[in-house]
Amino acid sequence: PLHEDVDLNMLANQTTSFLENETRHRDINVACELDQELPLITTDSNQLQQVILNLLENAIDAVGENGSITLSTRREGDRVVMDISDTGAGIAKELLPKVFDPFFTTKDAGEGTGLGLSIVYSTLNKLGGTIDVRSEPGRGTTFTISLPLNCPYF
Ligand code: ADP
Ligand code: MG
Repeated sequence: PLHEDVDLNMLANQTTSFLENETRHRDINVACELDQELPLITTDSNQLQQVILNLLENAIDAVGENGSITLSTRREGDRVVMDISDTGAGIAKELLPKVFDPFFTTKDAGEGTGLGLSIVYSTLNKLGGTIDVRSEPGRGTTFTISLPLNCPYF
């Protein structure tokens, strides 16, 4: 179903527990800072979960061992917002504009297709959402997704 009441906090919890074996194995600390007053949004739950999964997989790749990943949610007017932050290697300033390009990857052959973020970008676009990235090389990266409470296309 493309038209559901979706709890972004629940998606955050589901996706992090889905990846729990992987993160525990690598000693990655995963924290959720969820706004308990967050409203439900009308959107496609499966596609949104895929977006969060892609962003978390990238964060896991970026932090390696002993890093931390934080998911936080909040409401901003008629939108809900999620930050996915990691303490990983970061992204060089000159590469930032390329990360959403199809086939852009810095990973070894066989480890990355470079399609994850381009799919994330177009999925969010389809759902009326946006994505932004901020990064400090050597310190970490934050991807911020924003979605309307009611997707205008449904
Ligand atoms: P892939 O993961 O297959 O490389 P993506 O489209 O998911 O493809 O990501 C593209 C590139 O963006 C990655 O190869 C990496 O260089 C960069 N990137 C994405 N997320 C992060 C992150 N959290 N930290 C550092 N670099 C990242
Ligand atoms: Mg990826």
